[in-house]
Amino acid sequence: MVYVALFITAELEGLTNLQPRNGFDDPDHPYIFKLKCENCGEISKKPSCVSLSEQVPLPNGRGTVQMIQKCKLCDREGTVKIISGQGKPLTEFHGQNRQHVQLVIFDCHGLSPVEFSFGGQWKAESTKSKTTFEIDLSRGEFADYDEDGV
Ligand SMILES: [Zn+2]
Repeated sequence: MVYVALFITAELEGLTNLQPRNGFDDPDHPYIFKLKCENCGEISKKPSCVSLSEQVPLPNGRGTVQMIQKCKLCDREGTVKIISGQGKPLTEFHGQNRQHVQLVIFDCHGLSPVEFSFGGQWKAESTKSKTTFEIDLSRGEFADYDEDGV
């Protein structure tokens, strides 16, 4: 088994504690990435989207995973399971120092996630006030104005 940890960073200005809107263990928070086959190296054409609430039973009866997928090229089957409770908020300090923080860990068999994209709803706090911003990162960037923090 291979554990793949996903680390993120973002340029934060006036914002801190970037994290999924409903917390790191939100069962519906989507993780979007492509999958690379560990057998032949093929990378899936389309990104996959997994969330903790999707439970797929393993054929051998050993619990559930979030995804079972067959490689289109070599037909090898692989699985991805989300290990929850591993995320940490990305602070302004991290962002400005180009430091990465861990978002999630995937337990992978035969497949590994590559080319992660930000998806779903996120939140961050203003560093100048108590305002919390709800952030839609599906377009890759976010800008708003904190009226309370001027
Ligand atoms: Zn393959």
